[in-house]
Amino acid sequence: MPVTAKDIAWLAGLLEGEGYFGVKAKTSPVISISMTDEDVMARAGALMGCTPTRVNRQHANRKDLYRVQIYGIRAASWMMTVLPLMGARRGQVIKESLAAWHTQVWHRTHCKRGHAFDEANTTRYGKRKQRACRTCKNQNARENYHASKMREDKTLYFQHSLLEE
Ligand SMILES: [Zn+2]
Repeated sequence: MPVTAKDIAWLAGLLEGEGYFGVKAKTSPVISISMTDEDVMARAGALMGCTPTRVNRQHANRKDLYRVQIYGIRAASWMMTVLPLMGARRGQVIKESLAAWHTQVWHRTHCKRGHAFDEANTTRYGKRKQRACRTCKNQNARENYHASKMREDKTLYFQHSLLEE
């Protein structure tokens, strides 16, 4: 499903009101939103690439919540996307979360599988010349060749090679 400018504006408005932005374990960006409206959470989940989970509040008078929560590069991408549309307070939290993630991604000496980010093993991608592990990239390419359904898209590929859980 292509994401339109209207979708982005809608999600930004929702996150401004009800969303949580932060960093998990000092390194992984998190966006979380919980509401009782199942239809609203289904739409948010479809946009953010996450199936809403049902949260039972264990209280007779309270409706169950639906929660959409994303981490890592997926969350970072959405933070960057909605940042220009956010108010000052949330904008600041988003900037801090992205800065923590950025530092972690750029200054790591080894990839998540323990291969060194040295001259020979480091490859770069994107406008900002972000690092990726060559060994993992090659390995992933081989795995991809044999099992083509492994990864949905490039984003998930980079999440796999760059980010720790
Ligand atoms: Zn590696």
